[in-house]
Amino acid sequence: MGKKLYKVIIPLCISVFCTTAISKECYSQCITTKNNTISIVNNEDNENPKKEIKKEINKAPKIDYSKTCWKLQSLYSSEKEWKEELKQFTKDTKELENYIGKVTKSKTHLSFALNIKEKLDRKINKLYAYSKLNQDINKNSYKYLDMNESINKANMDYMDICSHLELEILKLSDKKYEQIISNKKISKKYGMYLAEIRRSKKHYLDEKSEDLIARTSTIASLPGQTYELFRNMDKKTNLNPSQYATVLEYGDRNERKSAYQNEFIAYNDNINTLSGLLVGQVKKNIFYSTERGYKSSLDMNLQSDDIDVKVYDELIETVTKNTSSLHKYVSLRKKILGLDKVYYYDMFVPIVKPVDDDITYDKGQGIIYSALGPLGKEYGDILYKAFNEKWIDVYSNDNKVSGAYCLSVYDDHPYILTNYNNTLSSVSTLAHELGHAAYEYLSAKNQNYFNSNPSIFTHEVASTTNEALLYEVLIKNASNDKEKAYYITQYLDLIKDTLYVQTMYAEFEKTIHEMVESDKSVNALVLDDIWGGLLKKYYGGNYEVDQLSKVGWSRIPHFYNSFYVYKYATGCSAGVSFAQDILKNGPDNYIHFLKRGSSDYPANLLKDAGVNLTTTKPIENTIKKFDSLVKELENIVAK
Ligand SMILES: [Zn+2]
Repeated sequence: MGKKLYKVIIPLCISVFCTTAISKECYSQCITTKNNTISIVNNEDNENPKKEIKKEINKAPKIDYSKTCWKLQSLYSSEKEWKEELKQFTKDTKELENYIGKVTKSKTHLSFALNIKEKLDRKINKLYAYSKLNQDINKNSYKYLDMNESINKANMDYMDICSHLELEILKLSDKKYEQIISNKKISKKYGMYLAEIRRSKKHYLDEKSEDLIARTSTIASLPGQTYELFRNMDKKTNLNPSQYATVLEYGDRNERKSAYQNEFIAYNDNINTLSGLLVGQVKKNIFYSTERGYKSSLDMNLQSDDIDVKVYDELIETVTKNTSSLHKYVSLRKKILGLDKVYYYDMFVPIVKPVDDDITYDKGQGIIYSALGPLGKEYGDILYKAFNEKWIDVYSNDNKVSGAYCLSVYDDHPYILTNYNNTLSSVSTLAHELGHAAYEYLSAKNQNYFNSNPSIFTHEVASTTNEALLYEVLIKNASNDKEKAYYITQYLDLIKDTLYVQTMYAEFEKTIHEMVESDKSVNALVLDDIWGGLLKKYYGGNYEVDQLSKVGWSRIPHFYNSFYVYKYATGCSAGVSFAQDILKNGPDNYIHFLKRGSSDYPANLLKDAGVNLTTTKPIENTIKKFDSLVKELENIVAK
């Protein structure tokens, strides 16, 4: 092994770790290792005021942690058992290795090989989950760090075998492939998996070029890695991310301004270096897309989800046409807060005070049962299991990682990590993660293994639908105007952060890639100007774009995971649209969509369930909702 091959592999082994990536101020980092069996969307969540805030204020009193932690013994009874299983797994991979050079020899060879692959995938999925989940609640333990290293090493070797086999499938002639896929059994079970591999066929180069390209991969990741070194080690500020987020949300105006300046100056002082890194990332994308014969780097990145560039373009166009709704919201913020101008550091302070600051976990569960009630009994039963069968590690503690995520194990059940802190935002985070969990659970129950791993594109729909339902129901059932206004602002912020802000990011990415693609010079000044222009366009005349705010682009780690953020915006549009449809017409369409897992391409699955992202209707629906919420808030405030 060792020789790197062209990776066309779509991860099927480790289920998605999906996270609440939404932060009011900046989306946390997400890394998707698409070319690896283990797919991670990890939320560092280090700038998420919604979740970090008030942890100190709202320490849950005398919690019985034994009832609110994971029960990982259902995966393995002991570490000894885990170690033995890992050893066995490594041995078992040899069986699959035997198919290298033979996998496409006949339909039988292919079925046998994929049958073995499924067993191995499911095993490593479970092995990985045990080590990852343990590590995340024992973050200072070297024992789990070692386990994680062993599993990563085993996975790398396994991936190498898989990539050999998948390369053979990719290289098959169309005629031979058609013959194989004409077999109904193969097509039903492995059709989507094989189609994913074949989709890259026309962009595959010859062996020598592929080998050369594979060897450039460590150089290609340098811009992103160097950016992380800056952000985590060299950037010097006087507040840590959590403190910074707290001040931006709860500080008085002078404190907020000072925290903002301190943070942004740290980036501004290195802005030329940071612009060099981002341009490096863009040039890397252009190099690969050109060499592989894609129309553009955008086209290359969107093809991983089989999404047409038109969807991306129309997202930007539709939001651009409707920025006036966001302008109205900024203007309302200015009015309620009594400001002369709204600056960056005025965008996170709540405009309506929270109505309940102490939502116990029990109470939070009650709110979720009621908000997700419209999803029907089957969904309610899954929630019951999640709450009562130890799927969730609820509270934070010193040994536990921050943030929130959901990790699913095909042969077990989904696991959710949260840092619940009795705020409405932690209820919303829980609803979000339960959206991922229920999606995985229903996919696994209703699809074969190869069709049970939904993409991030549809996953974020399932999670946002729950958040949208939560706010819809809370607003509807609010007992007075104060409560209603508070819930409205929370819903508004969800749509602002997920649809508007992420579309602005998506437009920035598209603009800079197009500039470099057409040989235009891009440096720090150019990037600052583009960012400043976008802030003005999205936030409107009441938003003051001061010089320092123009370096905002340099603070977004997602730009090193290119053309990713638009999925939050499309996910939000679909989620808000689904929530309204569920409340009006019942949950059947939506539940059916969840059960279909990854048995078709994301856009088709959504379209069949009534949310067609190849049209602008879901985006328009969401903007209409945003508009009506702004009006409702205006009316309440005017009373
Ligand atoms: Zn999520």
